[in-house]
Amino acid sequence: MIWVKYYFFTFADCENLLEKLMARRKTVNNTGILRVSGIPYHDAWVAYKCVSCKEMNYVQIGQNLISPKEALENAVWKCKHCGFIHSKETDLPFDNWEEEYNSADSTTALRFWEGFFRIATEHPESLWKQCNVCTRILPFNAFSRHSGWGPLEKQMECRSCKGAINAVLNPKRTREQLHESAVRRRIADLFLEEENEPIDFQDLFDRFGSRCFKTKEQLEINQRAMWAIDHILPSKYLYPLRRENAALLSRSANDNKRDKWPSKFYTNTELIELARITGANIDLISSKLPIMNHNIDVNKGVERYLQVREKSDLPKRIKEIKKILLVYDLVDNLSSENKKLLGFE
Ligand SMILES: [Zn+2]
Ligand SMILES: [Zn+2]
Repeated sequence: MIWVKYYFFTFADCENLLEKLMARRKTVNNTGILRVSGIPYHDAWVAYKCVSCKEMNYVQIGQNLISPKEALENAVWKCKHCGFIHSKETDLPFDNWEEEYNSADSTTALRFWEGFFRIATEHPESLWKQCNVCTRILPFNAFSRHSGWGPLEKQMECRSCKGAINAVLNPKRTREQLHESAVRRRIADLFLEEENEPIDFQDLFDRFGSRCFKTKEQLEINQRAMWAIDHILPSKYLYPLRRENAALLSRSANDNKRDKWPSKFYTNTELIELARITGANIDLISSKLPIMNHNIDVNKGVERYLQVREKSDLPKRIKEIKKILLVYDLVDNLSSENKKLLGFE
Protein backbone atom coordinates (compact mmCIF):
# COMPACT_ATOMS: atom_id res chain seq x y z
CA MET A 1 0.00 0.00 0.00
CA ILE A 2 1.42 3.38 -1.00
CA TRP A 3 0.30 6.41 0.98
CA VAL A 4 0.12 9.67 -0.92
CA LYS A 5 -0.80 12.76 1.08
CA TYR A 6 -2.67 14.07 -1.90
CA TYR A 7 -4.06 17.12 -0.13
CA PHE A 8 -0.57 18.68 -0.16
CA PHE A 9 -0.53 18.57 -3.89
CA THR A 10 -2.29 20.62 -6.47
CA PHE A 11 -4.24 18.69 -9.04
CA ALA A 12 -1.43 19.11 -11.58
CA ASP A 13 1.14 17.80 -9.09
CA CYS A 14 -1.00 14.77 -8.55
CA GLU A 15 -1.18 14.13 -12.24
CA ASN A 16 2.60 14.46 -12.54
CA LEU A 17 3.18 12.09 -9.68
CA LEU A 18 0.74 9.61 -11.10
CA GLU A 19 2.46 9.83 -14.44
CA LYS A 20 5.85 9.20 -12.83
CA LEU A 21 4.53 6.19 -10.97
CA MET A 22 2.96 4.88 -14.15
CA ALA A 23 6.17 5.48 -16.09
CA ARG A 24 8.14 3.51 -13.52
CA ARG A 25 5.66 0.67 -13.67
CA LYS A 26 5.84 0.57 -17.43
CA THR A 27 9.53 -0.29 -17.44
CA VAL A 28 8.93 -3.26 -15.18
CA ASN A 29 9.03 -6.08 -17.60
CA ASN A 30 10.37 -9.59 -17.40
CA THR A 31 10.24 -10.49 -21.07
CA GLY A 32 13.61 -8.96 -22.01
CA ILE A 33 11.80 -6.82 -24.60
CA LEU A 34 11.76 -3.37 -23.07
CA ARG A 35 9.38 -0.53 -23.69
CA VAL A 36 11.02 2.77 -24.56
CA SER A 37 9.99 5.38 -22.02
CA GLY A 38 8.76 8.76 -23.12
CA ILE A 39 6.95 7.53 -26.22
CA PRO A 40 3.54 9.27 -26.34
CA TYR A 41 1.81 6.04 -27.23
CA HIS A 42 -1.70 7.45 -26.91
CA ASP A 43 -1.00 10.19 -29.42
CA ALA A 44 -2.36 10.02 -32.92
CA TRP A 45 -0.20 10.88 -35.89
CA VAL A 46 -1.10 11.89 -39.38
CA ALA A 47 1.08 10.38 -42.06
CA TYR A 48 1.18 11.80 -45.54
CA LYS A 49 3.34 11.72 -48.63
CA CYS A 50 4.69 15.10 -49.63
CA VAL A 51 2.94 16.21 -52.81
CA SER A 52 6.20 17.78 -54.01
CA CYS A 53 9.05 15.37 -53.18
CA LYS A 54 6.80 12.32 -52.47
CA GLU A 55 8.63 11.52 -49.22
CA MET A 56 6.80 10.30 -46.10
CA ASN A 57 5.98 12.76 -43.30
CA TYR A 58 4.47 12.30 -39.86
CA VAL A 59 2.56 14.97 -37.93
CA GLN A 60 1.90 14.40 -34.24
CA ILE A 61 -1.63 15.59 -33.60
CA GLY A 62 -1.94 14.36 -30.01
CA GLN A 63 -5.07 13.00 -28.38
CA ASN A 64 -7.61 15.41 -29.82
CA LEU A 65 -8.37 14.07 -33.23
CA ILE A 66 -9.05 16.62 -35.96
CA SER A 67 -11.70 16.47 -38.63
CA PRO A 68 -10.91 16.83 -42.35
CA LYS A 69 -12.63 20.21 -42.24
CA GLU A 70 -10.43 21.45 -39.37
CA ALA A 71 -7.35 20.12 -41.12
CA LEU A 72 -8.31 21.89 -44.34
CA GLU A 73 -8.86 25.16 -42.49
CA ASN A 74 -5.89 25.11 -40.13
CA ALA A 75 -3.20 22.69 -41.21
CA VAL A 76 0.17 24.06 -42.28
CA TRP A 77 2.24 20.92 -42.65
CA LYS A 78 5.81 21.49 -43.76
CA CYS A 79 7.58 18.62 -45.50
CA LYS A 80 10.62 17.58 -43.44
CA HIS A 81 12.48 16.60 -46.58
CA CYS A 82 11.94 19.45 -49.03
CA GLY A 83 10.16 22.16 -47.05
CA PHE A 84 6.99 22.18 -49.18
CA ILE A 85 4.06 23.59 -47.17
CA HIS A 86 0.88 21.53 -47.21
CA SER A 87 -1.97 24.00 -46.80
CA LYS A 88 -4.93 25.00 -48.89
CA GLU A 89 -3.21 28.40 -49.32
CA THR A 90 -0.34 26.77 -51.21
CA ASP A 91 -0.08 26.40 -54.99
CA LEU A 92 0.20 22.81 -56.14
CA PRO A 93 3.55 21.72 -57.63
CA PHE A 94 2.32 19.49 -60.46
CA ASP A 95 4.02 20.25 -63.78
CA ASN A 96 1.79 17.77 -65.62
CA TRP A 97 -1.26 19.97 -64.81
CA GLU A 98 -2.33 23.10 -66.64
CA GLU A 99 -0.65 25.97 -64.82
CA GLU A 100 -3.91 27.61 -63.71
CA TYR A 101 -5.17 24.37 -62.06
CA ASN A 102 -2.21 24.48 -59.67
CA SER A 103 -3.06 27.92 -58.36
CA ALA A 104 -4.30 27.98 -54.76
CA ASP A 105 -7.19 30.20 -55.94
CA SER A 106 -8.48 27.56 -58.34
CA THR A 107 -11.29 25.14 -57.60
CA THR A 108 -9.08 22.27 -58.79
CA ALA A 109 -6.48 23.06 -56.12
CA LEU A 110 -9.15 23.48 -53.44
CA ARG A 111 -10.71 20.10 -54.34
CA PHE A 112 -7.27 18.54 -54.30
CA TRP A 113 -6.50 19.91 -50.82
CA GLU A 114 -9.93 18.79 -49.53
CA GLY A 115 -9.16 15.26 -50.68
CA PHE A 116 -5.62 15.44 -49.33
CA PHE A 117 -6.74 16.33 -45.79
CA ARG A 118 -9.70 13.94 -45.92
CA ILE A 119 -7.38 11.03 -46.75
CA ALA A 120 -5.14 11.97 -43.84
CA THR A 121 -7.76 12.52 -41.13
CA GLU A 122 -11.15 11.12 -42.13
CA HIS A 123 -11.35 8.15 -39.72
CA PRO A 124 -9.30 6.92 -36.78
CA GLU A 125 -8.33 4.22 -39.30
CA SER A 126 -6.56 6.90 -41.34
CA LEU A 127 -4.31 7.80 -38.42
CA TRP A 128 -0.99 6.45 -37.26
CA LYS A 129 0.57 5.77 -33.88
CA GLN A 130 4.01 5.20 -32.41
CA CYS A 131 4.95 1.80 -31.00
CA ASN A 132 6.67 2.13 -27.64
CA VAL A 133 8.77 -0.98 -28.22
CA CYS A 134 10.22 -0.66 -31.72
CA THR A 135 9.47 3.13 -31.75
CA ARG A 136 8.25 3.10 -35.37
CA ILE A 137 5.29 5.25 -36.34
CA LEU A 138 2.87 2.81 -37.94
CA PRO A 139 -0.62 2.83 -39.44
CA PHE A 140 -3.75 2.18 -37.39
CA ASN A 141 -4.05 -1.48 -38.34
CA ALA A 142 -0.52 -2.21 -37.12
CA PHE A 143 -1.89 -2.17 -33.56
CA SER A 144 -4.35 -4.49 -31.84
CA ARG A 145 -7.41 -3.10 -30.20
CA HIS A 146 -7.42 -2.00 -26.56
CA SER A 147 -10.78 -0.46 -25.79
CA GLY A 148 -10.79 2.75 -23.79
CA TRP A 149 -7.10 3.43 -24.47
CA GLY A 150 -6.54 6.86 -25.94
CA PRO A 151 -8.49 8.20 -28.90
CA LEU A 152 -7.42 5.35 -31.17
CA GLU A 153 -8.16 2.58 -28.62
CA LYS A 154 -5.06 0.69 -29.57
CA GLN A 155 -2.35 -1.12 -27.65
CA MET A 156 0.99 0.47 -26.80
CA GLU A 157 3.00 -1.90 -28.94
CA CYS A 158 2.59 -2.78 -32.59
CA ARG A 159 1.49 -6.26 -33.62
CA SER A 160 5.06 -7.19 -34.62
CA CYS A 161 6.37 -6.35 -31.16
CA LYS A 162 3.31 -7.94 -29.58
CA GLY A 163 4.12 -11.12 -31.48
CA ALA A 164 7.69 -11.05 -30.19
CA ILE A 165 6.53 -10.46 -26.60
CA ASN A 166 4.07 -13.32 -26.89
CA ALA A 167 6.85 -15.55 -28.19
CA VAL A 168 8.84 -14.89 -25.01
CA LEU A 169 5.80 -15.80 -22.94
CA ASN A 170 5.15 -18.88 -25.06
CA PRO A 171 8.46 -19.92 -26.59
CA LYS A 172 7.23 -23.00 -28.43
CA ARG A 173 8.88 -23.25 -31.83
CA THR A 174 6.97 -24.66 -34.75
CA ARG A 175 8.14 -27.64 -36.79
CA GLU A 176 8.80 -25.38 -39.78
CA GLN A 177 10.95 -23.09 -37.64
CA LEU A 178 13.02 -26.03 -36.42
CA HIS A 179 13.36 -27.26 -39.99
CA GLU A 180 14.38 -23.83 -41.26
CA SER A 181 17.02 -23.27 -38.62
CA ALA A 182 18.40 -26.77 -39.30
CA VAL A 183 18.58 -25.90 -43.01
CA ARG A 184 20.40 -22.63 -42.25
CA ARG A 185 22.90 -24.44 -40.05
CA ARG A 186 23.48 -27.17 -42.64
CA ILE A 187 24.06 -24.63 -45.39
CA ALA A 188 26.45 -22.59 -43.22
CA ASP A 189 28.35 -25.81 -42.42
CA LEU A 190 28.56 -26.71 -46.11
CA PHE A 191 29.86 -23.25 -47.01
CA LEU A 192 32.55 -23.52 -44.33
CA GLU A 193 33.45 -27.20 -44.73
CA GLU A 194 36.75 -26.63 -46.47
CA GLU A 195 37.50 -23.27 -44.86
CA ASN A 196 37.82 -24.46 -41.25
CA GLU A 197 41.29 -25.27 -39.92
CA PRO A 198 42.18 -27.72 -37.19
CA ILE A 199 42.96 -25.92 -33.92
CA ASP A 200 46.17 -26.70 -32.09
CA PHE A 201 44.98 -27.07 -28.46
CA GLN A 202 48.43 -26.58 -26.88
CA ASP A 203 48.96 -23.39 -28.90
CA LEU A 204 45.49 -22.16 -27.85
CA PHE A 205 46.26 -22.80 -24.17
CA ASP A 206 49.65 -21.10 -24.48
CA ARG A 207 48.20 -17.99 -26.05
CA PHE A 208 45.39 -17.68 -23.50
CA GLY A 209 47.61 -18.55 -20.51
CA SER A 210 45.49 -21.67 -19.81
CA ARG A 211 42.66 -19.46 -18.55
CA CYS A 212 39.09 -18.86 -19.63
CA PHE A 213 39.25 -15.57 -21.52
CA LYS A 214 35.92 -14.45 -20.00
CA THR A 215 36.03 -15.66 -16.39
CA LYS A 216 39.84 -15.98 -16.02
CA GLU A 217 39.42 -19.32 -14.28
CA GLN A 218 42.28 -21.80 -14.71
CA LEU A 219 41.58 -24.58 -17.23
CA GLU A 220 43.15 -28.02 -17.65
CA ILE A 221 43.97 -28.99 -21.21
CA ASN A 222 43.38 -32.67 -20.37
CA GLN A 223 39.95 -32.07 -18.87
CA ARG A 224 38.11 -31.61 -22.12
CA ALA A 225 34.70 -31.18 -20.40
CA MET A 226 35.96 -28.04 -18.63
CA TRP A 227 36.66 -25.91 -21.67
CA ALA A 228 35.47 -25.07 -25.17
CA ILE A 229 36.72 -23.23 -28.22
CA ASP A 230 34.81 -20.06 -28.86
CA HIS A 231 34.17 -19.44 -32.53
CA ILE A 232 34.71 -15.68 -31.94
CA LEU A 233 32.97 -14.65 -35.17
CA PRO A 234 30.20 -17.26 -35.36
CA SER A 235 29.78 -19.79 -38.17
CA LYS A 236 26.18 -18.57 -38.36
CA TYR A 237 27.64 -15.48 -40.09
CA LEU A 238 29.84 -17.72 -42.22
CA TYR A 239 33.18 -17.25 -40.47
CA PRO A 240 35.35 -20.37 -40.53
CA LEU A 241 37.08 -21.67 -37.41
CA ARG A 242 40.74 -20.67 -37.67
CA ARG A 243 43.58 -19.78 -35.33
CA GLU A 244 42.68 -16.07 -35.37
CA ASN A 245 38.98 -16.85 -34.82
CA ALA A 246 39.37 -19.11 -31.80
CA ALA A 247 39.29 -18.15 -28.13
CA LEU A 248 39.64 -20.32 -25.06
CA LEU A 249 36.58 -20.31 -22.80
CA SER A 250 35.31 -22.37 -19.93
CA ARG A 251 32.43 -24.60 -20.90
CA SER A 252 29.89 -22.47 -19.04
CA ALA A 253 31.20 -19.18 -20.51
CA ASN A 254 30.97 -20.72 -23.97
CA ASP A 255 27.39 -21.82 -23.26
CA ASN A 256 26.58 -18.15 -22.67
CA LYS A 257 28.47 -16.99 -25.75
CA ARG A 258 27.01 -19.54 -28.20
CA ASP A 259 26.61 -17.85 -31.59
CA LYS A 260 26.45 -14.28 -30.31
CA TRP A 261 28.32 -11.64 -32.26
CA PRO A 262 31.54 -10.85 -30.29
CA SER A 263 30.59 -7.27 -29.35
CA LYS A 264 27.36 -8.59 -27.79
CA PHE A 265 29.33 -10.82 -25.42
CA TYR A 266 32.74 -9.28 -24.81
CA THR A 267 33.39 -5.88 -23.22
CA ASN A 268 35.40 -3.26 -25.13
CA THR A 269 38.51 -4.01 -23.05
CA GLU A 270 38.08 -7.71 -23.77
CA LEU A 271 37.65 -7.07 -27.50
CA ILE A 272 40.94 -5.14 -27.62
CA GLU A 273 42.72 -7.85 -25.66
CA LEU A 274 41.20 -10.52 -27.89
CA ALA A 275 42.42 -8.78 -31.04
CA ARG A 276 45.88 -8.54 -29.47
CA ILE A 277 46.01 -12.26 -28.63
CA THR A 278 44.44 -13.67 -31.78
CA GLY A 279 45.21 -11.07 -34.44
CA ALA A 280 41.45 -10.74 -35.15
CA ASN A 281 40.30 -7.64 -37.00
CA ILE A 282 39.30 -5.18 -34.24
CA ASP A 283 36.92 -3.20 -36.50
CA LEU A 284 35.10 -6.38 -37.37
CA ILE A 285 34.82 -7.93 -33.91
CA SER A 286 33.79 -4.64 -32.31
CA SER A 287 31.14 -3.83 -34.92
CA LYS A 288 27.81 -3.21 -33.18
CA LEU A 289 25.83 -5.22 -35.70
CA PRO A 290 26.78 -8.59 -37.16
CA ILE A 291 28.49 -8.50 -40.56
CA MET A 292 28.07 -11.46 -42.88
CA ASN A 293 31.31 -12.89 -44.23
CA HIS A 294 31.20 -12.69 -48.03
CA ASN A 295 34.78 -13.81 -48.41
CA ILE A 296 34.00 -17.51 -48.87
CA ASP A 297 33.67 -19.93 -51.75
CA VAL A 298 29.91 -19.93 -52.20
CA ASN A 299 30.03 -22.05 -55.34
CA LYS A 300 31.53 -25.02 -53.54
CA GLY A 301 28.84 -24.77 -50.88
CA VAL A 302 26.09 -24.71 -53.50
CA GLU A 303 27.56 -27.72 -55.28
CA ARG A 304 27.77 -29.64 -52.03
CA TYR A 305 24.19 -28.72 -51.15
CA LEU A 306 22.88 -29.92 -54.51
CA GLN A 307 24.69 -33.26 -54.32
CA VAL A 308 21.50 -34.90 -53.18
CA ARG A 309 20.27 -38.39 -52.80
CA GLU A 310 18.18 -39.66 -55.73
CA LYS A 311 14.98 -39.65 -53.72
CA SER A 312 15.24 -36.26 -52.05
CA ASP A 313 13.06 -33.36 -53.02
CA LEU A 314 15.28 -31.39 -55.44
CA PRO A 315 12.93 -28.44 -56.11
CA LYS A 316 12.64 -27.91 -52.36
CA ARG A 317 16.40 -27.93 -51.90
CA ILE A 318 16.85 -25.45 -54.74
CA LYS A 319 14.24 -23.19 -53.18
CA GLU A 320 16.00 -23.43 -49.79
CA ILE A 321 19.47 -22.62 -51.09
CA LYS A 322 18.16 -19.74 -53.22
CA LYS A 323 16.46 -18.17 -50.24
CA ILE A 324 19.59 -18.45 -48.08
CA LEU A 325 21.73 -16.92 -50.85
CA LEU A 326 19.32 -13.97 -51.07
CA VAL A 327 19.07 -13.50 -47.31
CA TYR A 328 22.85 -13.67 -46.89
CA ASP A 329 23.30 -11.38 -49.89
CA LEU A 330 25.62 -13.86 -51.57
CA VAL A 331 24.07 -14.04 -55.04
CA ASP A 332 26.83 -11.84 -56.48
CA ASN A 333 29.43 -14.30 -55.24
CA LEU A 334 28.03 -17.06 -57.49
CA SER A 335 29.71 -18.03 -60.73
CA SER A 336 27.65 -17.09 -63.76
CA GLU A 337 27.15 -20.79 -64.36
CA ASN A 338 25.59 -21.26 -60.91
CA LYS A 339 23.54 -18.08 -61.28
CA LYS A 340 22.05 -19.54 -64.41
CA LEU A 341 21.59 -22.96 -62.87
CA LEU A 342 19.65 -21.51 -59.92
CA GLY A 343 17.65 -19.13 -62.09
CA PHE A 344 19.12 -15.86 -60.80
CA GLU A 345 19.68 -14.56 -64.32
ZN1 LIG B 1 8.68 17.13 -49.66
ZN1 LIG C 1 6.73 -2.26 -32.58
